[in-house]
Amino acid sequence: MKFSEAYGRGKFGLSFEIFPPKTPAGEDVLFGAVKALVAFRPSFITCTYGAGGSTREKTIELTVAIGKRFGVSTAAHLTCVGSSHEDLRAWLGKAASQGIENIVALRGDPPRGESHFTPVDGGPAHANELVTVIRREFPHFGIAVAGYPETHQEAASPEEDLAHLKRKVEAGADVVITQLFYENRDFFAFRRRYGEAGIQVPLVPGILPIISYAQIRRITALCGAKLPPALVAKLEAKRDDPEAEMEVGIAHAIRQCRELLDAGAPGLHFYVLNKAAAPSRIIEALGLPGR
Ligand SMILES: Cc1cc2nc3c(=O)[nH]c(=O)nc-3n(C[C@H](O)[C@H](O)[C@H](O)COP(=O)(O)OP(=O)(O)OC[C@H]3O[C@@H](n4cnc5c(N)ncnc54)[C@H](O)[C@@H]3O)c2cc1C
Repeated sequence: MKFSEAYGRGKFGLSFEIFPPKTPAGEDVLFGAVKALVAFRPSFITCTYGAGGSTREKTIELTVAIGKRFGVSTAAHLTCVGSSHEDLRAWLGKAASQGIENIVALRGDPPRGESHFTPVDGGPAHANELVTVIRREFPHFGIAVAGYPETHQEAASPEEDLAHLKRKVEAGADVVITQLFYENRDFFAFRRRYGEAGIQVPLVPGILPIISYAQIRRITALCGAKLPPALVAKLEAKRDDPEAEMEVGIAHAIRQCRELLDAGAPGLHFYVLNKAAAPSRIIEALGLPGR
């Protein structure tokens, strides 16, 4: 299924994002998680592209393997990090020849310790350039791009960030999937501005269920998402009790997703970090699919 078919006309787009594990044992864990998650009949499963382009081949391999093994639609992420236009074309050609239907097109993050992204000589500097190449040269791919309810960390202002998002969509994206966030009012304010800017493709909230306080502090410090003070207080109160921390995270995600669904979100994209337990509990509580 292409991205363009996953949303609207009575369809709700449920999706899961996994990452390529580094070891065979990690791969077994991943396949176990995917097996559990496909029971919820997702529209697609997406596979990330490692920081710094570290999983170039593995991303294609795993995306194809998951599609074949579980009979589910998939998408491969691709970033511009360390790649020239020729490298990207070669990768896209390989993905196309292996039957991949959808690409999540990203710029990627600067290497750790660097505050600015530096393109390789002649390579794309922003995701809109990657989307342009895909649309022009590989028009059959469905394309998703990233959106930032709390504004991307490097953006000069929310207005500029939104203008750049609009360029990505105008270059040919079918859907915008958001960065993780924990305050729905940030998403709703972003969605209002998105609509006012005339962006019309589906805007899908990205949800990362909290399963560990230490882990979520690390992740939010990296991507710049806020943790609401009330949620932090609840997590602090359960500190060093892993099960209780996860219960706080699951309860928050259920409330958050319920409100997003009631407000007409066209889908939910779960960052599952290769574990099925928390997303499964949340999806069951929400009564998805078929809510
Ligand atoms: C759904 C999702 C999936 C992700 N998957 C991965 C992954 O698999 N691998 C990975 O490494 N990272 C991934 N990321 C993280 C992503 O790579 C980073 O957030 C990165 O810093 C920005 O990528 P982008 O595609 O949004 O970049 P861009 O859209 O290029 O934006 C980056 C910054 O540049 C500005 N900008 C955009 N276009 C222009 C322009 N034309 N001129 C000037 N400024 C511009 C924007 O306002 C923003 O501040 C993902 C993020 C999301 C939300």
